[in-house]
Amino acid sequence: MVVLVCSSARGLQWGGGPGGQPVVSSQTLTVKGGTIQVDFVQGSLDLDPDRVVRWVLDAASAVIRYYGRFPVSRARVLIVPVPDRHGVVQGTTWGNIRGFQGFTRMRLGQHTTGKELIDDWEMTHELTHMAFPDLPDEEHWMEEGLATYVEPIARVQAGQLDEKTVWDEMMDGMPKGEPGLGDEGLDRTHTWGRTYWGGGLFCLMADVEIRKQTKNRKGLQDALRAIVEAGGGIDKDWPLEQALAIGDRATGTHVLSEMNEKWGSSAVEVDLPGLWRELGVKAGGEVVAGARLEAVRQGIIAGR
Ligand SMILES: [Zn+2]
Repeated sequence: MVVLVCSSARGLQWGGGPGGQPVVSSQTLTVKGGTIQVDFVQGSLDLDPDRVVRWVLDAASAVIRYYGRFPVSRARVLIVPVPDRHGVVQGTTWGNIRGFQGFTRMRLGQHTTGKELIDDWEMTHELTHMAFPDLPDEEHWMEEGLATYVEPIARVQAGQLDEKTVWDEMMDGMPKGEPGLGDEGLDRTHTWGRTYWGGGLFCLMADVEIRKQTKNRKGLQDALRAIVEAGGGIDKDWPLEQALAIGDRATGTHVLSEMNEKWGSSAVEVDLPGLWRELGVKAGGEVVAGARLEAVRQGIIAGR
């Protein structure tokens, strides 16, 4: 089960923290669309730094596969070792920090193993945050929802994850994003479930709806690519409506703008069991042939 603990800039002070700690090694990766400077803060890691750098590169590759390029031209990833811990302890991403358009700080456990890096989703999640404008607090659900939804699909497209795992995790996670009693819409209901999975549910439903309206010729991925192409990375603080309008133009629909208006201000019920049935997804993430929206399911995963 995925437990999302990522926090983007919200609620955290940018104090003297990461930037002030001594960096003991640094290298710059050139990737499609930009550069990523990977810096290690002083501290012990069992893993070789090269293995950690490869982890960053794999995550960047998944993001590049999904978006067509790395979303910002100059990014920095700061690796902060955390004594006596395993795996990713915390990931946080900011826009526009000290000359970098995107900045991710990864607090990584000292005893992290190579297997844990292979199974990790957080690095891809954090780099995905660089591919959308920085939004006000009330729209934080869109930032987290996008990263929650895009991350596993990007990893499948990059050959790093299997499709079954994606659907299994969505079937487990999406119900947590449904509105509860007294819900006032995503802009006004700031629970963990509504922020991460409510935003993820918005993205899933938007992807399906765009594909229905365009006879599966376009999907959410086309909309998100267009936003990145227009320069809408985390270094921008565009209004959400502006980004969504660019996405809608790219798909020739009004799905994102219309859904945002509804989902932002009211509790929208979704028939998830019905959706899984139509997509041809069964418990455990197994897919079955011949479902009504089979082509839509295939399009979401393959990005076409
Ligand atoms: Zn996040």
